[in-house]
Amino acid sequence: MHTLVTHSEAETVDAGRQLAARLGRGSVVLLFGDLGAGKTALVRGLAQGLGADPEQVSSPTFTLIQEYSGRIRLYHVDLYRVAPAEVDDLGLDELGDGQGVVAIEWADRLPRAVGGAVEIRIEDLGDDTRRIAITGWGI
Ligand code: ADP
Ligand code: MG
Repeated sequence: MHTLVTHSEAETVDAGRQLAARLGRGSVVLLFGDLGAGKTALVRGLAQGLGADPEQVSSPTFTLIQEYSGRIRLYHVDLYRVAPAEVDDLGLDELGDGQGVVAIEWADRLPRAVGGAVEIRIEDLGDDTRRIAITGWGI
């Protein structure tokens, strides 16, 4: 497990940007953490690192899956409003057909484990401090 502590949103974005260098087509990144932990901020960094426009990355209210085109396509999934029983209907297994990177916020809503995924847990330590724990895929 790799753990780091960030002290600003920009530092968390940068952590995502650096992690993107270790991802490739078919990579899956599962994000865990409470509302406001910084999951979307980290995905913004992934987008940047994958050559997409980070400014497109947000958490819109009604969009479950967003796509950002870059060097490698990024599929950004937010399961906050999805019940675990409904997740199967989203077809996440086929998302991107193994050709893109899939990043899933609120991955605890997934009905079963995803083999080979990178797991990122973000914890709010107060103020602008966040602990980011990364496991999986040799990291
Ligand atoms: P989530 O997607 O987990 O709900 P967001 O990334 O949307 O969280 O929001 C994180 C919020 O916390 C933003 O308002 C951001 O400015 C703030 N923030 C403060 N410090 C940090 C930090 N170290 N890393 C990430 N976000 C931070
Ligand atoms: Mg979010």
